[in-house]
Amino acid sequence: MWEDLEIAVNKIDPEKCKAKPPQDALGFGNYFTDHMFLMKWDRENGWHDAEISPYRNFNLDPAAMVFHYGQAIFEGLKAYKGENDQIYMFRPEDNLERMNTSALRMCMPRLPVDKVLKALKALVYLDRDWIPTGNGATLYIRPTMVAVEPALGVRPSSQYYFFIIMSPVGAYYAEGFNPTKIWVTDKYVRAVKGGVGHVKTAGNYAASIMAAEEAHKAGYTQVLWLDACERKYVEEVGTSNIFFKINDELITPPLNGSILGGITRDSVIQLAQSWGIKVVEKQITIDEVIAACNDNSLQEVFGTGTAAVISPVGEFCYQDKKYVIADGKTGELSQRLFDELQAIQNGTQDDPFKWIVRIG
Ligand SMILES: *Cc1c(COP(=O)(O)O)cnc(C)c1O
Repeated sequence: MWEDLEIAVNKIDPEKCKAKPPQDALGFGNYFTDHMFLMKWDRENGWHDAEISPYRNFNLDPAAMVFHYGQAIFEGLKAYKGENDQIYMFRPEDNLERMNTSALRMCMPRLPVDKVLKALKALVYLDRDWIPTGNGATLYIRPTMVAVEPALGVRPSSQYYFFIIMSPVGAYYAEGFNPTKIWVTDKYVRAVKGGVGHVKTAGNYAASIMAAEEAHKAGYTQVLWLDACERKYVEEVGTSNIFFKINDELITPPLNGSILGGITRDSVIQLAQSWGIKVVEKQITIDEVIAACNDNSLQEVFGTGTAAVISPVGEFCYQDKKYVIADGKTGELSQRLFDELQAIQNGTQDDPFKWIVRIG
């Protein structure tokens, strides 16, 4: 069982190391490092066969349950290289704890957080040469758990894989910190209360692709989701949480079951409060947002998530009408939050909240 889970390390033959990708054209999620972590679970043995090994393919039965019934959960976090090549991670334990919340909802096994954190640190350190150093470039980390029992029938699988892969990614804002345009959909919904909207499970993202495609066709970058029942309360934007600054107050929808509890969301709330800004977690309707936009009390809108950290919104479209927020420019608070969070993540700024984990 996991109390005595040993982590084997099987390093790649140096001659088989992959060539490093071009650092100025990394994009997002296109390249993967030389190593990965894998461990297996079954009912008799619990977690076992924990191993850091060269990055490789899986050999899975076509009946593996994940292919049919979608028991799949994942996380997204980053490692950063700061001054003197010091390596940092941002709140990694929170990601693993959230994965356990996801696992519970999806009837999947709990992770031994301490062990996985240890494996994660070892993996990042082993592939440290893959962490980009350019401004804003990072190593994106993707822990994932899938059901692998080869059987048909809708029930919890009796076998799982947990793995971690890592991808060097470029700065999200390669062309500068520019506000995005978002498409408010009242045709599609992302999540319902009682469902799995608060869980990072694969099916949520599969279900969201069509709305995103329609938004892209209309010239918008992201979808703004409304609640599934009344289609009037704002929930999230794309795969990010959303914030509104109205009359100097920061408003974000509460975590009421259909919204993913973002770690960036939580960090923004804590940071803004520490600066004396009033933060209110409350439901807000799209009509309230439009009214605030029309009477100029809507000062800023931004999304929060690990990939982009802060994503300012400059314009939105709802029922064929366009609304421009603060002249389509990046707001002062959006910029300050982005700068501060990035500085904490890179280790160039004090870390009063103890969010940073040093590696090596
Ligand atoms: C991952 C995710 C977020 C952001 O979470 P972070 O922990 O801040 O990266 C927000 N909404 C959805 C739907 C997500 O999948």
